[in-house]
Amino acid sequence: MKKTVLTGIRPTGNLHIGHYFGASRSWVEVQDHYDCYFEIADVQALTDNFDNPEKVKKNVYELTIDLLSIGIDPNKATIFLQSAIPEIAELTVYYSNLVTMARLYRNPTVKTEIAQKKRLFGNEGESVTYGFVGYPVSQAADITAFGGEIIPVGEDQLPLIEQCREIVRKFNSIYGEVLIEPQALLGKYPRIKGLDGNDKMGKSLGNAIYLCDSPAIIHDKVMSAITDPNKIRKDDPANPDICMVYYYHKLFSGDEVDTVCAECKNGTRGCVACKKQLIDNICKYLEPIREKREYYLNHMDEVQKILEEGSKKAREKAQMTLKNVKKAMKIDFFNE
Ligand code: SF4
Repeated sequence: MKKTVLTGIRPTGNLHIGHYFGASRSWVEVQDHYDCYFEIADVQALTDNFDNPEKVKKNVYELTIDLLSIGIDPNKATIFLQSAIPEIAELTVYYSNLVTMARLYRNPTVKTEIAQKKRLFGNEGESVTYGFVGYPVSQAADITAFGGEIIPVGEDQLPLIEQCREIVRKFNSIYGEVLIEPQALLGKYPRIKGLDGNDKMGKSLGNAIYLCDSPAIIHDKVMSAITDPNKIRKDDPANPDICMVYYYHKLFSGDEVDTVCAECKNGTRGCVACKKQLIDNICKYLEPIREKREYYLNHMDEVQKILEEGSKKAREKAQMTLKNVKKAMKIDFFNE
């Protein structure tokens, strides 16, 4: 029996290369070895976009197309919508009795995000909703509903998995061994920096290259990337380790990287040519993804069917979990 892997992704926009090298590339490999569930967490996206449902809906389709384009295969893995599984909401209610508000506020991931919101919107009480503070509980429901045993995450997500494990242990200690305690699977790849050298790549930071970017957009973005500021003339020797162009060469340029590094250091390489070489390599790398995107954009009926069938399959699993949970909690009065 293959182990179950659950990956939840918030539909907050298109996937960028930070997502790709940081996590989603490994999902493609994982689907060959595990029973994979990819949850498009649209309900969770509404926790901070509740006033913009159109945006969330659009992002659901964009994300689904991105997943299919990078190679997630609906014949191997299940792609489904969180909002199509009402059992998750019901499990969230039951689990909410098993975690204190103090514990939620102490969760480092929640704490960081609250601090960010506070910086952006001021007063904590006004900017943070009940739904937002509680999202680790709903995430525990996401994971357990499908019997998620392995959860691929980045380091910043580890506290959420720990919170889920606590909820599972508490549930099982009170009601009996019903839920599976998940294990985090830390991604092999580091967080990818933005074009401006920022440790994080993101839409709001305006420093991301998206998998769907056209060659013209990639050209403009790479041309604006931060290089060694001490290299003024074409033949000045420079330090590639402080240059974002070199940083991306290491991701996209394969065997050419050593030459880029050596020529940069000895001043036989100009930044414009170096950037053009990177642009070519990024475009070549992303070409097959862009082609698949094009296909799915022209076959939206297929995308809709994949989501529908995936959600149906996922729901059957969640219904089984909920049944077991209610039985353990002695609230299975009508044997539904
Ligand atoms: Fe960066 Fe290339 Fe210029 Fe060196 S030559 S500073 S690696 S862009």
